[in-house]
Amino acid sequence: MRATEDTYLHKGMRKKMVDSIREMGISEEAVLGAMMNVPRHFFLDSAFEKHAYEEKAFLIGEDQTISHPYTVAFQTQLLGIKPFDKILEVGTGSAYQACILAELKAKVFTIERQKKLFEGNKNFKLLTSSLLIKTFYGDGFEGLPTYAPFDKVLITAAAPFIPQKLIDQLKPGGIMVIPLNEGENQRMLRITKDINGDLIEERFSEFSFVPMLGGKKE
Ligand code: SAH
Repeated sequence: MRATEDTYLHKGMRKKMVDSIREMGISEEAVLGAMMNVPRHFFLDSAFEKHAYEEKAFLIGEDQTISHPYTVAFQTQLLGIKPFDKILEVGTGSAYQACILAELKAKVFTIERQKKLFEGNKNFKLLTSSLLIKTFYGDGFEGLPTYAPFDKVLITAAAPFIPQKLIDQLKPGGIMVIPLNEGENQRMLRITKDINGDLIEERFSEFSFVPMLGGKKE
């Protein structure tokens, strides 16, 4: 069961979450605003409702997790979202991250390889921003060639390598944000494809994600 009511108590907890990610270094006001507007507790089982605004990852079923609020904010900030950006997200999971992107007025194309999670994403449909989101059941390593090219590609699972097919689906001038396996954890990378198609790589801090796996799961 998931919650569908957003009370003043939830809003209070959310405000504290936003204050804390600001203190952790997120400075983009639009990103902080989107984190304030999207009720994170809608994306979790109601058993976690009281804790939904803590700096934690939570199980969302099928052994997968919704990312920490700071991680969501960090990846979103790195993408530098502009209204009407066309974004490919790999790993829909709870669809929380997809809703944050849509809240920033991006057009989101999000893929999930686990059928149960793909089908379980009913809650985000309660949000007005969901009109900007299209969900797909498939393997993110393949991307969505039919809808390419994208302005931005966001990977929300631990990638074993940089998928060439996803680089190919990026527009010249486009940006990919990808947590790439490095030892036990993942190094957050921002890869910019310049107008000649050359790649510029920037490295940020380490994070911990569930693995990006090939193929679909029934
Ligand atoms: N963005 C999510 C975080 C989900 S965790 C959220 O906001 O809740 C990572 C998700 O990526 C999991 O749901 C996992 O099943 C999915 N995943 C892993 N490998 C994938 C792949 N190759 N294609 C699509 N989804 C994948």
